[in-house]
Amino acid sequence: MVLATMNVKLLMDTLRLTAERAPQFVDITDAVTELVRRSGVLQGMALIFSKHTTAAIKINEHEPELLKDMEAFLSRVSPQDGEYCHNNFEVRTVNMEEDECPNGHAHCQHLLLNTSETVPIAEGQLQLGTWQRIFFVELDRPRQRQVTVQILGV
Ligand code: ZN
Repeated sequence: MVLATMNVKLLMDTLRLTAERAPQFVDITDAVTELVRRSGVLQGMALIFSKHTTAAIKINEHEPELLKDMEAFLSRVSPQDGEYCHNNFEVRTVNMEEDECPNGHAHCQHLLLNTSETVPIAEGQLQLGTWQRIFFVELDRPRQRQVTVQILGV
């Protein structure tokens, strides 16, 4: 199959999300599925990309008790009340904003997750496994967030 001879489609959109707490796994699979449908792409891929350093994208299972485990795991590995140089506003001078919040824990938790996930599309369907769902993962606090979704294919 030679791609250059085919009519490539590209849909790009932004999901705007605000979680209720942090850490929180927010299932965005249905929203991505809807964008795949709108794109008309039958064979290709979906890229789901968080525009943030303290909010991630991760594929995992949507089982409520497991979500509690994963949220607790992140909090255990990098607790909010831990000590972080990033939170020392008396020393820190770089990337300081007016309403800067201490969020060193959220950056460190993000190291374990991803900024993006890519999912293959075949016959117009996301090729997720039986238990795979796409999550937006808030790690900092409830904030307005943007997730860019690109659907590319034929
Ligand atoms: Zn920060």
